[in-house]
Amino acid sequence: MMEMEKYQFGYGCMRLPLLNADDPASFDYPLIEKLFDTYMERGFTYFDAAYTYHGYHCEEAVKKALVERHPRDSFELATKLPLRDFKDAEDMERIFNEQLKHCGVEYFDYYLLHNMGTNVYEKCRKYDAFGFAAKKKAEGKIRYLGMSFHDMPELLDEILENYGEMLDFVQLQINYVDWEQPNVQSRRCLEVANKYHKPVFVMEPCKGGTLVNLPEEAKKLMREYAPETSFASWAFRFAASQEGVVRVLSGMNTMEQVMDNTATFRDFRPITEEEMAVIRQVTEIIEKNTPIPCTACSYCTHGCPKGIAIPEYFALYNSISRTTGSFSSQAVYYNNISLKHGKASDCIGCRQCERACPQHLPITDYLKDVAAKFEAGSSFPTRK
Ligand code: SF4
Ligand code: SF4
Repeated sequence: MMEMEKYQFGYGCMRLPLLNADDPASFDYPLIEKLFDTYMERGFTYFDAAYTYHGYHCEEAVKKALVERHPRDSFELATKLPLRDFKDAEDMERIFNEQLKHCGVEYFDYYLLHNMGTNVYEKCRKYDAFGFAAKKKAEGKIRYLGMSFHDMPELLDEILENYGEMLDFVQLQINYVDWEQPNVQSRRCLEVANKYHKPVFVMEPCKGGTLVNLPEEAKKLMREYAPETSFASWAFRFAASQEGVVRVLSGMNTMEQVMDNTATFRDFRPITEEEMAVIRQVTEIIEKNTPIPCTACSYCTHGCPKGIAIPEYFALYNSISRTTGSFSSQAVYYNNISLKHGKASDCIGCRQCERACPQHLPITDYLKDVAAKFEAGSSFPTRK
């Protein structure tokens, strides 16, 4: 069992600042370096990368902005084996070696089987992905082994029953909106991890920004209760206060976020019962105002044959659902995005995206709603 300081706060590298929003590899290095340095100066050390983030370029960015600029023992690096991508046992070896090279390191502090769920579990069993990673750990190339998990508690239980001894930790999606959501079930997954005594790292504590960009009614409630407290800190404190949670990750792309979030964890206060009452009201308001619970992770877009900008369209749909009045800027954004990407109505229903979605969203159905909202009767010229 690893020893960790409770409430360690990790830097998620899935949404690093870019110079061009359409190019996932156009890293804004001067800003990224400043953000990483400040995070470390404020006492934190954990960086969470993955082979697939930023269109497969995230690890290179981490090498340049972190590994080449700081002593190896001054930070802890996590990255992940893409379970969807590897073809067979040799391919896992190829990817692992590429990852060491991309990151410019001799070993990973933490290594995770990425996005474990029903769609990849059988493949992992067939090619013994757990055994592969355990072997790398025995060779000294991984210090701690874990998995990020996006599925139902019953499957988590089965995996931990069969492979739990190999795993030092599990990474779960935990936030106050997903706590009881049937498609995520944060609370029950956490209970399973606790049953097997696995330390839990939290991903998506703010649900891809949903718990920061709150509906006005929810913002008012939180501001009335605690005027000086950021919406993000409510979300972090909720996640970090749960039994078994030892680390919470956050993807940060502004200095304001780094300062605010590190302050939350430097002076950590567990969430109180009174604050939980506010959170319960805010959850109800969010549920009322968020028709598509997308976290903007972009896992769905890589293999879409029509290049449909799925998370962008879902964000616009959610946003327009919160808007009052007859027209909004979301339609303008929709039109601009669809000039460069497939439109929602271009979907051919192959469901590749749905197999990749860690939130198990019925993406094709939602795209029909998006098309009905933004394409029917639009006064804007649309792409032919
Ligand atoms: S179902 Fe539609 S959105 Fe999903 S991958 Fe296929 S074409 Fe793209
Ligand atoms: S639809 Fe699913 S996979 Fe795609 S960005 Fe949203 S949560 Fe991620």
